[in-house]
Amino acid sequence: MPFEIPTIETPTQKSGDELKPVKVGFVSLGCPKNLVDSEVMMGILQTGGASITPRAEEADVIVVNTCSFIDTAKQESVNTILEMAQYKASGRAKKLIVAGCLVERYRDEIQKNIPEVDAVVGTGELEHILAAAGLKQGQPAADSSPFVILNSGSTSQALKSGVASRPEGQAREQSGRFSREEWDGAIADLPNYLYDENTPRVLATPKASAYIKIAEGCDHPCGFCIIPQLRGKFRSRRFESVIAEAQRLAANGVREVTLIGQDTTCYGEDLGLKDGLALLLESLAKVDDLRWVRFLYAYPNKITGRLLETIAANEKICSYIDVPLQHASASVLKRMKRGSGAEIFLKSLEKMRHTIPNLTLRTSFIVGFPGETENDFAELCQFVEAAQFDWLGTFSYSDEEGSAACHLENKVPAKVIEQRRRKLMQIQQRISRKSKRKLVGRQFDVLALGPSEETDLLWEGRTEMHAPEIDGKFFLNDFGPHEQLEAGKFYRCEVTEAHDYDLVARII
Ligand code: SF4
Repeated sequence: MPFEIPTIETPTQKSGDELKPVKVGFVSLGCPKNLVDSEVMMGILQTGGASITPRAEEADVIVVNTCSFIDTAKQESVNTILEMAQYKASGRAKKLIVAGCLVERYRDEIQKNIPEVDAVVGTGELEHILAAAGLKQGQPAADSSPFVILNSGSTSQALKSGVASRPEGQAREQSGRFSREEWDGAIADLPNYLYDENTPRVLATPKASAYIKIAEGCDHPCGFCIIPQLRGKFRSRRFESVIAEAQRLAANGVREVTLIGQDTTCYGEDLGLKDGLALLLESLAKVDDLRWVRFLYAYPNKITGRLLETIAANEKICSYIDVPLQHASASVLKRMKRGSGAEIFLKSLEKMRHTIPNLTLRTSFIVGFPGETENDFAELCQFVEAAQFDWLGTFSYSDEEGSAACHLENKVPAKVIEQRRRKLMQIQQRISRKSKRKLVGRQFDVLALGPSEETDLLWEGRTEMHAPEIDGKFFLNDFGPHEQLEAGKFYRCEVTEAHDYDLVARII
């Protein structure tokens, strides 16, 4: 789903004596990691005097930041580019720029087949957005909104090549994990960009919330995934850079921070840090004014005892772990090049729950991986029954050109994949319904987000159990002693109703 980008008033670009604002419309597709890239590009555009508009019809320049994770994401990206191209034909837009993962994969094809596209910007070239939009580095825009995070000098001091890498990354590079040789039009250089605390950034998340990307790229060998080829080798941001950004966000009113990366649990390994994520969380828990810190995308065998103890010991670190397991059958996991299996996972989940009281657990699975038998799928279903996750996402396998799994035999028919996906979600629906009912009558702190998109009569909020965007909804239908609620503030509430995935609560 495209993210809605806030309108931000900024100074304008001067042309002669006239003030000529360059308005940029931005569509950000895909995951939060891509959203942070969009926020960075918007920040950089502002340093060139651009203003950001949520209305494509009034934009001089339109940027589509694409996703290329799976077939449906690619299709959505192409459809959005074509839709935005129409504004060039019939509207005010003079330039159409395509950025993101699709560019890393199909750079030449985009330019050849969609002539309306004026420029492409890969995931490692975010600073090129300014030139692509026909703008020059200027004075930083005034910090006129709490959502605008602009820092000293405004020129990105982002880390470039030469950052240390992990031995795993070097070994995988030698084995060809990052090779793009078979990709027509892909530039040979892998992305190595990383933003830092001095990079301008425009937040597009709801008030009081922000993502922080702590690392980029991935060294894991998962056979179904081409993210390492798209995003490059794993590299961590400097420890001090993440802390400085968190402090600045908190000083600008952010209270909830979500740490992201392709694999957050490897954080710091390339910097020589042991238990880097745990150390980072400990330091973030000391940042005044931050109320909640959570991290997403943990790799199963990278969750250490120290990390669990850190979560348990710090009130500000949400008791929430997102660990995409992808499957539970040892033979499927082996073919996926991930390893492990149901028994090891169950032990590890038990340890997590034992160490962290009231832990919320999220995972995701891929169904229909090549060679997945009825028995493999039955094992996955049994595992889901046994594990009792709070939140679970399911992806249907699709062949990704350039992935190792693409060459595997015994493809599962699409119809069977869909049946399995539905069955798994039905199991989870039952589990979720039961566990959500148990929450009725319990009290939580809730971060008020704003009126619900579904009806003005309800507000939406988030508790420690809910990560932004991906988990069930939390509605507030009774404001208690308050005439109105304030977005970005915390309230105490009691759950009054439970649905399969969503909860309803009243402020107390
Ligand atoms: S850990 Fe995630 S990003 Fe990395 S290769 Fe595996 S699925 Fe892809």
